[in-house]
Amino acid sequence: MHEAGAVAAAIDEAFEAWPSLASDGRMAVSIVDPTRAEASAVEFYARALLGELGLDGMTLSVRTEPVACELCGAASVPTPVEPCCEACGAPLPRSTGPAIVCGPDEGADTIASGVR
Ligand SMILES: [Zn+2]
Repeated sequence: MHEAGAVAAAIDEAFEAWPSLASDGRMAVSIVDPTRAEASAVEFYARALLGELGLDGMTLSVRTEPVACELCGAASVPTPVEPCCEACGAPLPRSTGPAIVCGPDEGADTIASGVR
């Protein structure tokens, strides 16, 4: 997956949904599908994009949501390189929505109820 495009889309949507985000100076980046996006790459692209927007000073908190295994139910935090259950090795389900969601840094609840 190309994290750069997904990060750009997520940041665009966040600034549209929360116009005060730029002045807040804090952004939460949530990786909702870790089989398609990897935290260090996401942070790298998010920093680069915010820099282009003149928001270098923005605080980023990147959070990776665990994925539940369909076979054994264990929660894993996989990587795109190895999108498998840490407990049983089964391939993890991929979500069809965006892999990354951005929003105000006020905790996961705000992001979950935000615009997708
Ligand atoms: Zn499993």
